[in-house]
Amino acid sequence: MNLDLLAIAAHPDDVELTCGGTLLKMAQAGYKTGILDLTAGEMGTLGTPETRAKEAAAAAKILKVKYRGTLGVPDSDVQASRAHKLRLASAIRELRPRTVIIPYWEARHPDHYNASTLCYEGCFLAGLKQLPIAGEPFRPHKILYSTAFSAARPTFVVDITAQFPQRHKAIRAFHSQFGNGPASKKRKVFLAIDRLENEMNQLARHYGEMIGVRYGEPFLQKEMIKVNDVVEMEVRSI
Ligand SMILES: [Zn+2]
Repeated sequence: MNLDLLAIAAHPDDVELTCGGTLLKMAQAGYKTGILDLTAGEMGTLGTPETRAKEAAAAAKILKVKYRGTLGVPDSDVQASRAHKLRLASAIRELRPRTVIIPYWEARHPDHYNASTLCYEGCFLAGLKQLPIAGEPFRPHKILYSTAFSAARPTFVVDITAQFPQRHKAIRAFHSQFGNGPASKKRKVFLAIDRLENEMNQLARHYGEMIGVRYGEPFLQKEMIKVNDVVEMEVRSI
């Protein structure tokens, strides 16, 4: 499919909450973008998998992605197992993304940090010729880590001020996950998405502030960032 950018995360709505603005911004710039949810989020106490699938499709439309799929890993059991890695490697060979956004490698939720390893190793395996799966060997050029669920210091921040209202709409598309329904009192472990959004919005404001704009989404890359022009560098120092 030759995607320019693919965001992979453990649960449907993770991508909207952590890098939805960036995905939309890249789609608006003309890039072909996509979302791959590792699980269908079936362990969530709210909404049936069918409802969540419909909501995920609606959110994908708002973010203007060309592709959204689910890998079929069981929710709350995300692991870098051989079987999951091969499945992910197949998806990478099919979608051929130049850049992927994956979760940061430290997190509170095991699905999130396990997703990070699964994604990295799946992307790596996709490039091995001898792998027992179909498709042409392929490896993404760039791996970016979404740091929105962690305390890690990001290496860069994307200005999403213009995309912020649409990001909000995409998050709101997950109606069943909001905390004011009749099921809200029964929930103990899972945070309702409106509370999560509130936290993410504060983060977006915080990181936006750090680059001199209203809202920003934080990322980390392991490589050094290459700069050619030190005169035209953005973000003022004093
Ligand atoms: Zn999640």
